Amino acid sequence: GWLAALLSIVAVEYAFAYPIGIFGLGIKDLPWLTAFAIYATVANILSSHRRRMVAQLLQMHAELERRVDERTADLRRSNNQLIRATAKRVRAEVELRKSQVELGRIGRIITVGEFTASIAHEINQPLGAIVANGAAARNWLQRNPPEFSEIAKSVDAMIAAGERAAEVINKIRSLVSEEPSELKTMDVNELVGSVFELTQLGFRKAEIKISFQFEPGLPPIRGDRVQLQHVFLNLLNNAVEAMSDLMANTAELLIRTEHSPGNRVSIVFEDCGSGFVDADITRIFEPFYSTKKNGMGMGLSICRTIVKLHGGRINVSQRSPRGVAFRVILPAGAPS
Ligand code: ADP
Repeated sequence: GWLAALLSIVAVEYAFAYPIGIFGLGIKDLPWLTAFAIYATVANILSSHRRRMVAQLLQMHAELERRVDERTADLRRSNNQLIRATAKRVRAEVELRKSQVELGRIGRIITVGEFTASIAHEINQPLGAIVANGAAARNWLQRNPPEFSEIAKSVDAMIAAGERAAEVINKIRSLVSEEPSELKTMDVNELVGSVFELTQLGFRKAEIKISFQFEPGLPPIRGDRVQLQHVFLNLLNNAVEAMSDLMANTAELLIRTEHSPGNRVSIVFEDCGSGFVDADITRIFEPFYSTKKNGMGMGLSICRTIVKLHGGRINVSQRSPRGVAFRVILPAGAPS
């Protein structure tokens, strides 16, 4: 800019100012030279300012483009990640659905298995009682003279067991036809006693001392009589089996009933048998878990289901020095 101004002064002085063709600046030229210099300075300042602005704008534009490129690359990366994550999630969902279907299938198999095992289990007990009582009746018959009063007792027990089996079958039929189970209000002590009567003969043979501590005046419970009898019968049988290795007359089972806090009633079975084989005692309630040679492993799982249906729970603990205690806790008066 400054070079252009200088050349302009030289050109004007040489080619346009008189005398033309001679270069010679004097005092008289000072005013226009000053004015020219001021204009040239202002024009130079303005144009260099404009140039700086344009350069700045270009720089900003380049910077903006660079940022846009960077952000686009970032977005593309995130998008790819998102696509990969979505694909992974879809795969996981498919896997999950597959597992759910498989679980449902296994669940149905277990339910059918549990139901079949439950029927077999429920019918087996009265059948066993009928066979044991039949054998006893035959023994009494073979005596000379035959013990008619004992025979009558055995036959009565057989009839009671037969009726129980029929009741169980009716119960299963009503279960299948979805008829509501028959709820009754019952005295717990009488209910536990009735179970003992069903099996008395077998225990006499097994030489187990069974004692009762029934708390008087317990509030009644409401529930399905046959189902609850089944629970207590099962706990009784398990206790007897756990004590089968004990010497005669050392096997003792204590059955207690008592009032529990929160208007509940507890029925406790304390044996002095072998105790639990497995340290993880929660497993005993799993379907098909059994440590017995011919065990089906369904008894306790069914018991727990029944007790739960009645709004109660079963607690279990090891006893010292040996044996286990099962505590069935049922709400008084429920379920309505
Ligand atoms: P099962 O009697 O067919 O084995 P259960 O469900 O009734 O099936 O019992 C499961 C397991 O719980 C038994 O195999 C046994 O190991 C354990 N168990 C149950 N009751 C007792 C008990 N009174 N003492 C020791 N172990 C017991």
